Amino acid sequence: MQAEIISNGDELVSGKILDTNSQWISLELDELGVEPLYHTTVGDDLAAMTGVLDIAMRRADIIIWTGGLGPTADDLTRQAVADAAGVPLEKDGQSLRLIEEIFQRRGREMPKSNEIQAFQPKGAKPILNPHGTAPGIDIILTGKRCKRLLAYPGVPAEMKEMWQLSGRQSVSDFVKKYRNNNHCIRFRSIHSFGLGESQVEAMLPGIIDRKRIPKVGITASQGTITLRIAAEAETQDECLAKMQPTADWIYKTLEKYIYGESGDTLPSVVLQKLQQEKKTLAVAEAGTRGLLSECLANVPVLKGNAASRDTENSAVFLGGITFPPRQPVALEEMVKIARRIFDPDYFLVIGPYPQGEPDRFQSGETFVAVIDNRSADVQTHWQKSVLNIQNYPFTGHPGIIDDLYIKRVLDNFRKVLR
Ligand code: AMP
Ligand code: MG
Repeated sequence: MQAEIISNGDELVSGKILDTNSQWISLELDELGVEPLYHTTVGDDLAAMTGVLDIAMRRADIIIWTGGLGPTADDLTRQAVADAAGVPLEKDGQSLRLIEEIFQRRGREMPKSNEIQAFQPKGAKPILNPHGTAPGIDIILTGKRCKRLLAYPGVPAEMKEMWQLSGRQSVSDFVKKYRNNNHCIRFRSIHSFGLGESQVEAMLPGIIDRKRIPKVGITASQGTITLRIAAEAETQDECLAKMQPTADWIYKTLEKYIYGESGDTLPSVVLQKLQQEKKTLAVAEAGTRGLLSECLANVPVLKGNAASRDTENSAVFLGGITFPPRQPVALEEMVKIARRIFDPDYFLVIGPYPQGEPDRFQSGETFVAVIDNRSADVQTHWQKSVLNIQNYPFTGHPGIIDDLYIKRVLDNFRKVLR
């Protein structure tokens, strides 16, 4: 089954507004097991709009359209859909009453131009828009491959509300009918960190073969590699059972590189582990501008943090002590002070963060340490409380290197916590 998403508006093709509607709808369709093959964006030009509709109707089974349902002369979606379907526009009395009501509620007189919003292509069903004057269009098509078109206003809040009220169900019903009713599709996304995309592929030969059942997709984003398994069956339980051997294979092979599934992130996993252990954390970071603290800002077990902007001009201030610039932070001092001020269970320290160009960094100038503040020896032999000390490579694209570095810190911490 193929879906095509079309967004419409001069503001989109001219680059003034980013088309977020298509992205949002794609994610929604994904939940329903529909993978759209095309996103099309078209300006406010009737011939161009009818043109893209004509193409989409030949190559997609269902079209989801957003934009161009307003009352002004550049809102041409109603006409384009009617033209592409080969039907005239007709005034819908019920829609007109609803639009008039909205104006009454807002205490304003309805401009004559808004009447146009009550017009629908003949045979179409208006889609209720509770907070806007543009009803959507739901039309069954014949003659070409595409059997259904749903059109929504471009305003994201209205579009989303309408989708949630009825659109999702309409598409779900359409998909069920298309697939003879007894069909279910489920996904599992498994996230790993620390391996490259090609390494993962080599470790799991054939996993992303397009003909493989269940199918697995791979995506890389800022160092995170996600494997998404998709299974189709008659019931949800059957889908899950079909995916299990593939998931087992992935877990057995990638092992410690896997940090979670679905909505899990490295900070959320760290939080979960700390909460399970009923443990707290404090952070000190020199020269990072607070990158790690920012990442953990919503983590309720974070008892406190100290951060400095750079190691060149400002040293780390913690408990009134200034650490000398350009030198690894005096870990012993920091452990003592952190104990006094925050008294956390764990203490995460980034020594001077590498400065300057990636890849040129001299190792040995910095470190990341995980300290167990509750260890028995912490008072006398503070070194014994250091659970783990790492020296990460400062490599990667300058645009994402900070993000990668902090992820390395969090990934290391989560491994220490297990
Ligand atoms: P329209 O329904 O075409 O009159 O669009 C109304 C407003 O919604 C536009 O001015 C944009 O601000 C916004 N909008 C329209 N289409 C999109 C889209 N695809 N993604 C995000 N915002 C949009
Ligand atoms: Mg528009």
